[in-house]
Amino acid sequence: MNIVLVGPPGCGKGTQAKMLSEKLGIPHISTGDILRNAIAQNTALGKQVALYMEKGGLVPDDIVSAIVAERLSHDDASGGFILDGFPRTLEQAKSLESALLKKTHGKLDKVFYFDLADEAVIRRLSGRRSCKKCGRVFHITFSPPRRPDMCDNCGQPLYHRSDDEPDTIKQRLEIYKKQTVSLINYYKNQNVLATIPADRKIQDILEDVLSHTGNL
Ligand code: AMP
Repeated sequence: MNIVLVGPPGCGKGTQAKMLSEKLGIPHISTGDILRNAIAQNTALGKQVALYMEKGGLVPDDIVSAIVAERLSHDDASGGFILDGFPRTLEQAKSLESALLKKTHGKLDKVFYFDLADEAVIRRLSGRRSCKKCGRVFHITFSPPRRPDMCDNCGQPLYHRSDDEPDTIKQRLEIYKKQTVSLINYYKNQNVLATIPADRKIQDILEDVLSHTGNL
């Protein structure tokens, strides 16, 4: 299945994508993770994108679209994929369509829109703590790690993403509304959109998503 996850920052796309990837046996492709890795490894791409990300802005369409087209050409994506955080603009949605056609992936089967109110986004992101090593995500109040600031999964220190600071969160939400919300209508018109209320328990959301994929 070719799946896209759309929604505001902090809506739980990454968490759901990881679980779905295991359940469906198709790769989880997160443009945010790919870009953060590039920055951590100080590659040419990392240097190019660091400033956009620190400020909570979008990385230019041509850069992210090229990353995704290349990633989709790997063998592990030939049987389907879960895109998390891409596309974020109409331009990117159109690039994705041409990349899919070129690689004979066909078309998107489902676009899940994770619907979450602004207050919940702010509450979630300001308490979010992530593991740099395994990517597991915690929340200091709602899902705290067993030992403060240490990952339950791999024991590595947790960190607060620099783009999860209050001013940057505001900026990311504004950009989401300006640039990404238009995708919801775009995919609704293509009859592939499923809206998922995202202020619920992780497991309930997963079951909801799976029921739309015929894998429950
Ligand atoms: P995420 O981990 O999806 O919240 O993405 C973190 C940051 O990476 C975003 O705020 C953007 O700066 C950048 N980014 C990730 N995906 C995209 C995309 N599809 N288009 C542009 N910028 C992106």
